Amino acid sequence: MTDWNSLYASRMDGVVASDIRERMKLLAAREIIHLGGGLPDPEIFPYDALSAASQAIWADRALARTALQYAPSEGHGPLRTWIAEYLTRTGSPCGVDNILITNGSQQGLDFIAKLLLSPGDTAMVEIPSFIGALRAFDAYQPRYLGLPEDADDWRAETLSGAKFCYVGPDFRNPTGTTMTLDERNALLDLADTTGMALVEDGCYEQLRYDGAPIPSLLSLAIARHGDIEKIPVLQTGTFSKTIAPSLRVGWIAGPADAIRKLVLIKQASDLATSALNQMLLLEVVKTHLDASIAEACTVYRARRDSMLKALADNMPEAVRWTMPEGGLYVWVELPDHMDATVFAQRALAEHSVSIISGAAFYPAGASNVAVRRNTFRLSFSMIGADPARTGVERLGVLVREMAVV
Ligand code: PMP
Repeated sequence: MTDWNSLYASRMDGVVASDIRERMKLLAAREIIHLGGGLPDPEIFPYDALSAASQAIWADRALARTALQYAPSEGHGPLRTWIAEYLTRTGSPCGVDNILITNGSQQGLDFIAKLLLSPGDTAMVEIPSFIGALRAFDAYQPRYLGLPEDADDWRAETLSGAKFCYVGPDFRNPTGTTMTLDERNALLDLADTTGMALVEDGCYEQLRYDGAPIPSLLSLAIARHGDIEKIPVLQTGTFSKTIAPSLRVGWIAGPADAIRKLVLIKQASDLATSALNQMLLLEVVKTHLDASIAEACTVYRARRDSMLKALADNMPEAVRWTMPEGGLYVWVELPDHMDATVFAQRALAEHSVSIISGAAFYPAGASNVAVRRNTFRLSFSMIGADPARTGVERLGVLVREMAVV
């Protein structure tokens, strides 16, 4: 019998299954209140607009031919143009050569790591970080460095040598927090002095429920350097949270030179993203993006509010949590001595509530990072007011139980 373990490449040593995916498999069959995974709510998918776009494609043989053919590796031309115009309109002037279409932004993160990381190179990541990004980077065998929490500690003397720094400035997954304008400028300063790239995950940028938008690193960098070709930023974007994740359409925006290299990676990886999906999306975003974003914000704002109220009503005083202005997540801090991994296990086993403990969002082996084991992530994307209240009530009971032991 083949010994598969002896055949796996060394890059697989650092690759482990995502806690969340594994847990979702286990939970599929039980009556659980899911406060863990952050799937978009199917209520907000634009069914009618997608159906109309689909019918228009099948009714026109020339369109249908394009839809069923391989798309160019860099992406369906009209969609790239639309994204370039969208970014230009929203403060990041760029052209079609600055855009690569990817299968969701997850593929964008994988490709950027493939472009920049040789084994042993340093990848700097914000702490905590999106699990999907960490798992994508792991396969390229980096050494991790944490971006210190306090921007006063972002000094070139201690933080140089990284190939890139990965951040999600708006409503981060997992904390729900947002980088201030000063922090964004400080990070651009750090990139300029150290020569590293910045990988900006723009996944939640459009999902702002209150407060004024803050310019992206991409737009600040273009303003600072006067030209997208001179900037250190690669930004990943996606339609997963504003239209629908199953279409798997996202993009990378950045200097044309890096985009050309990323196109070669795309070619070698999967040739191209589905032309059909790109065409469907283009038709929908042309007429419906603003309405879809408005609808998503209305639904998620109400969910965030009920989650925050449930926390305020049910958590003991020693528990702290973030107040996200957008996105899908709240980050909760238990009293220092409590281990959220044990807490999450007990919440599931004894109270049928699923949450993700914070330790999952830390990179392996980062020497300058202390894992805060008393933290966990809540997602409110699929949770109405009643289950939010019930779920958080049960978590509150468990905190009280564990805090006195
Ligand atoms: N970045 C962040 C921060 C995410 O939370 C996610 C998915 N939840 C992604 C990227 C990947 O999304 P997609 O590939 O669907 O664009």
